[in-house]
Amino acid sequence: MPSTPPPPPPLIDLRNVTRHYDGGLGTGGVPALQDAGLSVAAGEAVAILGPSGSGKSTLLNLIAGLDRPDEGSVTVDGVRVDRLGEAAAARYRRAKIGMVFQFFHLLDDLTVAENVVLPAQLAGMARAEARRRAAELLENLGVDRHSGTYPGRLSGGERQRVAVARALMNRPPVLLADEPTGALDSASGEDVSRLLRELHADGQTVLVVTHDLALARSCTTRTVRLADGRVLDDNARMETVR
Ligand code: ADP
Ligand code: MG
Repeated sequence: MPSTPPPPPPLIDLRNVTRHYDGGLGTGGVPALQDAGLSVAAGEAVAILGPSGSGKSTLLNLIAGLDRPDEGSVTVDGVRVDRLGEAAAARYRRAKIGMVFQFFHLLDDLTVAENVVLPAQLAGMARAEARRRAAELLENLGVDRHSGTYPGRLSGGERQRVAVARALMNRPPVLLADEPTGALDSASGEDVSRLLRELHADGQTVLVVTHDLALARSCTTRTVRLADGRVLDDNARMETVR
């Protein structure tokens, strides 16, 4: 019998991760994360569910290198993220991570196009190439007519599309979204949901933190539930509901 080749290493691999803030304890006397493990293969779309305070944002921040665990390891695309210093973590983030937040975090003094171009400029991409890619992304996301506009003039749904464009600018292997529809009306939430689904279909690895079960079902194939900083369960589903 020919032996099957070993599976490729996971793109994201957290092992025995514990994080407590201030050396102290989170809500109810428990750490923000406690002995948490998570392994995600390239191309997976994973929903992270759990009540407020259960450690969802902490988990994303550790993967993004915005925070460090007190114990355990965080490996992303072969990089030991928990061992990076500040400057190396910033470089890692620019190369490997795209992030989308509930409240967009766009810079209001920059135009839409300037916001989207910014990560590429920081990463040293040539200006003309960065402008081209930003224009292409904004067009794909249906907000190119707002390129010269300031974010404050856009609707929530439009701002979130711009934030997604910015997150994708450097072609990150990992896209992290923390309650991306939490501040949107249901129609805009649907648009963002469709966007995430399309990105996943194109092979993008996506982790989405959400309270919205419909969002989880519509754009991911696996659900990880957290409670009190622990992984309660981790279930793959057959396919996304289209
Ligand atoms: P979620 O995103 O699931 O709502 P978080 O990961 O933000 O939960 O928080 C988990 C726990 O850690 C909560 O008890 C929260 O109060 C605490 N926590 C999160 N960030 C900090 C911080 N920067 N300083 C102190 N405590 C924090
Ligand atoms: Mg949170």
